[in-house]
Amino acid sequence: MADFRFSDIDQQILDKVVEVGNSTQAHTRYYEDHEHETPPARLEGERGFEEVFPLFGQRKPDDTPMMTFMMAVSIARGSARGVVRGLGLAMPMGKASGLGNAALQSAGTPEQKAKWGDLFLAMSITEPNVGSDTKAIQATAYLDGDEWVINGDKIFVTDGVKCDGAIVWATIDKSAGRAGIKSFLVLKGAPGFELVRQEKKLGIRASDTAAYSFRDCRVPRDSLLGGDETVPKDGGSAGYKGVMKTFNMTRPAVASGGVAKAKGAFEFAREALAAEGVEVDWSKSFNQRSAVEQKLIELEADTEAAALTVLHAAWLSDKRRPNNLESSICKAKGGDVCRTVTQGAMEVLGGMSISHDHVVEKFLRDGRISDIYEGTGQIQRLIIAREILGYSSEELT
Ligand SMILES: Cc1cc2nc3c(=O)[nH]c(=O)nc-3n(C[C@H](O)[C@H](O)[C@H](O)COP(=O)(O)OP(=O)(O)OC[C@H]3O[C@@H](n4cnc5c(N)ncnc54)[C@H](O)[C@@H]3O)c2cc1C
Repeated sequence: MADFRFSDIDQQILDKVVEVGNSTQAHTRYYEDHEHETPPARLEGERGFEEVFPLFGQRKPDDTPMMTFMMAVSIARGSARGVVRGLGLAMPMGKASGLGNAALQSAGTPEQKAKWGDLFLAMSITEPNVGSDTKAIQATAYLDGDEWVINGDKIFVTDGVKCDGAIVWATIDKSAGRAGIKSFLVLKGAPGFELVRQEKKLGIRASDTAAYSFRDCRVPRDSLLGGDETVPKDGGSAGYKGVMKTFNMTRPAVASGGVAKAKGAFEFAREALAAEGVEVDWSKSFNQRSAVEQKLIELEADTEAAALTVLHAAWLSDKRRPNNLESSICKAKGGDVCRTVTQGAMEVLGGMSISHDHVVEKFLRDGRISDIYEGTGQIQRLIIAREILGYSSEELT
């Protein structure tokens, strides 16, 4: 049975993660306002995540399973008020923490994982004319001797500037539809690969977002993730489904970022109100509580509920059980709750919440993306409906 209570050592790690995350608080605004500037290796007063490593060494096999615990770490880290170093999704401690790393782990061969496992990899699917409908991608790849030649344009690549390379989706046979779609590892510096733009954004400004172009870009033959160069004649889409499975790992990670923003905003509001003497009095009955107390209770309950959906999806993955449905549930719930709770936190705080002097408005701006990338809220609802009703993607679009 799933049990999401944290052991003492797990709780110590989570507390330390927040402490360390808060150490860059004094710099948050600067890097918000200068979003294309990369912070130096160590900022003044910054404490490194290496402080947390020794605690990890004290974990026991019966502590919370690893992916589940990493989601809790991601929520703790994202709720801190001082994060200036990107999204810090599933693996905030290591360099190999990009969305492309999850793809490598879920679709790469053992040789590919050994060769590229230490790189920081972005994930590049979206194109100027293709977003939600990923099977419609236009980028192409063909084999020329011992190299793949890739052509196409990609946009909205998270960590696309600071990564070592990206997992790039392209079709090797347009007439085959989704059966022809493959993913390739393309390293920075590959001939014909250019970083053409960096976006300016409403939120998540510590995370860079890039646009790429590929013009006769050449990569070695073994860059095809999973190594399967065939296109099923019957239109079968096992390969495509294989890469789609990546989302079952990345959606909980992205959802954890949304829950983190909700938690950060809620905790800010709770502390600010407590400083003014407004706190939830649990000894009172429902009809005796003030509207603000009731609102605080609802915000916290929503945040905790969303966190549990994230932990559940990750726990299934830890147990090697299917989690397609649960990954979409947590992504949809995380996106929703992030919007409503950051908004609700601002509501109870009133005018001060909009000020640049406080971090709560940043949580609202940062959180908006949670319901867009890695599949929008509407797309998650489609997937959930298909899973529950037993429809295929052709039957329910
Ligand atoms: C900051 C940022 C970072 C990103 N990072 C990455 C990344 O690292 N890698 C990557 O590949 N992409 C990334 N993306 C792209 C992101 O995944 C897409 O923006 C997202 O999938 C939506 O695609 P779209 O913007 O083309 O919107 P569209 O697909 O055009 O959708 C527009 C609206 O229509 C709705 N809609 C679309 N189809 C349906 C349907 N069938 N039923 C109901 N409603 C529907 C959508 O929910 C949305 O509300 C990022 C985007 C942003 C903004």
